Amino acid sequence: MALTAFLEISHLRKVYGENVAVNDFNIKVERGEFICFIGTSGSGKTTTMRMINRMNEPTSGTIKINGEDVTKMDPVKLRRRIGYVIQNIGLLPHLTIKDNILLVPKMLKWDQKRMDERAVEMIKMAELPEDYLERYPSELSGGQQQRVGVVRALAADQELILMDEPFGALDPITRDALQDLVKDLQQRLGKTFVFVTHDMDEALKLATRIVIMSHGEEVQVDTPEEILRHPANKFVADLIGEDRLIQAKPTITTVGQIQRPAISIVQTATPREALSLMHKTRVDTLLITDPDGILRGYVDLEVINDKFRTADTVEAIMNPKVFYVRQSAVISDTVDRILKRGYRNVPVVDDAGKLTGIVTRAALVDMVYDALGGAATSNNNDTDKDMSTDGPRTDIGTTDVKEGAQAVADVADDADTKDKPAKPAEKEEVHAHND
Ligand code: ADP
Ligand code: MG
Repeated sequence: MALTAFLEISHLRKVYGENVAVNDFNIKVERGEFICFIGTSGSGKTTTMRMINRMNEPTSGTIKINGEDVTKMDPVKLRRRIGYVIQNIGLLPHLTIKDNILLVPKMLKWDQKRMDERAVEMIKMAELPEDYLERYPSELSGGQQQRVGVVRALAADQELILMDEPFGALDPITRDALQDLVKDLQQRLGKTFVFVTHDMDEALKLATRIVIMSHGEEVQVDTPEEILRHPANKFVADLIGEDRLIQAKPTITTVGQIQRPAISIVQTATPREALSLMHKTRVDTLLITDPDGILRGYVDLEVINDKFRTADTVEAIMNPKVFYVRQSAVISDTVDRILKRGYRNVPVVDDAGKLTGIVTRAALVDMVYDALGGAATSNNNDTDKDMSTDGPRTDIGTTDVKEGAQAVADVADDADTKDKPAKPAEKEEVHAHND
């Protein structure tokens, strides 16, 4: 990242009487970025954008372009550097296409030769024949006029282009085509864009980074991918919408995101209570925690049935060696090793060791197929094991401290794969039970 951001907005605020339009807006934009503002109506998108080229003056805060405070710049000089396209503005009907394209260069007093060349260059970018320059807008189809409208925004060669819902009123097909054109031109010409939209699909398609706005502040500023993967809060998630979040699911990365609720019982419970819970929930293995919810072990139905009368608590009969995975573990790093071992279910714990849920083998297999495009990573035999252990790691491990040394030896082959992405597994023999 450069020392000075191309565009840097700090603590920007705009108040109209009692009404706070922009509260405390902050962003740093690098040259060549395509920034999309999205948010509910009245969240301050237009006001923020208009302060960038001083169509609105800030109440407080600063806006810098290449380190230069815009409020201290000559407005004419400023607008030479910043292009602005307002909502759904069409071509001027009484001007030719050429004069429409050259509207701003003329205002900026370019010389005629440069303007003639620019007009030709722009009509080519709109993928229209050169002789269309002499036509009037009414002689072009609606879609062709829209294309001219887009290239016109770039005609004056300004380094920053502001667009406020330029495609808001268009039908989806026209809009889609113009989005492609804008994105293509932006990349080819290396321009920096700040683009307001209320359409999440548009933002996801165009933006290098999306700025989610609410009540005059930026709620989240991130790449489309990160916004989909990790919406900062419920407001963002709602704005994205459930359908898009589901579509984004193959990019899920942590175990915590695919866990389900675990059936567990506290270690002081009686075997009878455990049995009753197992019947009620129809499970044959029960996870056991201490009173703080820390995972301590597990117990199988057969064991309970066996030792039912001889023990006072489940703690006395549980197997303290339970294989677990941390909820923060990256799936691509851990899935392979989990699947290899053939567990049906694996308990998930947080960093403190608290049980937070389980991941099922079925969910993991689905994940692998989604994420790796169907490449199997596991020996998909049906050697379902229960939740015994192989050993401690940073992200997968065992609850049993005493057995640690032996367990480390057992997983030594895994240790050097720690930081590598999951690889298709060779057929590997499942470690033997040792209880
Ligand atoms: P958006 O573009 O996100 O829909 P705006 O920036 O247009 O939001 O508006 C933000 C808030 O500021 C709204 O509450 C709006 O009513 C108010 N506002 C905008 N312009 C003016 C103005 N010229 N005078 C008074 N209030 C305004
Ligand atoms: Mg607006």
